[in-house]
Amino acid sequence: MAWTWAVVNQKGGVGKTTTAINLAAYLARSHRVLLVDTDPQGNATSGAGAERRGLVRDTCSVLTGDATIAETRVPCAVPGLDVLPATINLVGAELLISQRDDGEFQLRKAIADVADAYDFVLIDSPPSRGAITINALVAADEVIIPMQCEYFALEGIAHLLDLIGKVREGPNPDLEIGRVLLTMCDDRTNLAQLVANDVRSFFGDQVSPFVVPRNVKLPEASSFGKPISLYDPRSKGARAYESISRELIEHVQRKTARVPETRSGEGVGRTASRWWRRGS
Ligand code: ATP
Ligand code: MG
Repeated sequence: MAWTWAVVNQKGGVGKTTTAINLAAYLARSHRVLLVDTDPQGNATSGAGAERRGLVRDTCSVLTGDATIAETRVPCAVPGLDVLPATINLVGAELLISQRDDGEFQLRKAIADVADAYDFVLIDSPPSRGAITINALVAADEVIIPMQCEYFALEGIAHLLDLIGKVREGPNPDLEIGRVLLTMCDDRTNLAQLVANDVRSFFGDQVSPFVVPRNVKLPEASSFGKPISLYDPRSKGARAYESISRELIEHVQRKTARVPETRSGEGVGRTASRWWRRGS
């Protein structure tokens, strides 16, 4: 049974996609992982090194009930990681989903069909609070909220918490905030420390003990279609996401027996190469 995280923040450019790609890649070292791209920009798809050209199906096909995840997922640069790819077609999906009676459950139902094939599912969501983000929240066990280390980091957070509260009162009563991640933190400034203190006093233990530093290797890696684990595993950004992924696995194992110590079974075909196992 897969454990599902939705990476959500309606604020743009806070590190949702970078977080989703890199956590998925590190989790895939030891577990079977599906990265779901629900953003029409398709940055998670291309950043993980999945091919976007020539796709016949995409996340839009799954959200509209025209295809299953098993028919739509594609491999990427990382062994053990599948990607549900997004294309610009998703722009029209909001309307199509809202016209369906059970529209908000589409992704949840689709993930349930492949839940035995994965240990973790990570959903990258668009910078909005529309029908696609609601689908991600309804499908998730927990939310991961990346927040950029800057003034106004907490701005808009009340709206996000309000949305999470509404989803909890309605279609997904078990939804919880898993981790708040501080991203793009610049150690050299006092500002980062002040923002971190603010966020910690607001969210308490829900804030990850590891912060993601501002590190140019992360955008570089995405532009080459590689997660940081393959592009520059010794960089500060890589070490941060590796630590966060380990802590997340422990966090879920503490909560549930659902997630095994390591990859369970042989998944959907692609298993880690021997080289990769040695490296992990
Ligand atoms: P959107 O809301 O548009 O989907 P997002 O929240 O998914 O944005 P990202 O695309 O992950 O945010 O990050 C925004 C930009 O910042 C990207 O160019 C990304 O490569 C860069 N970036 C993300 N994290 C870091 C970091 N830790 N250090 C440096 N640059 C980063
Ligand atoms: Mg994004």
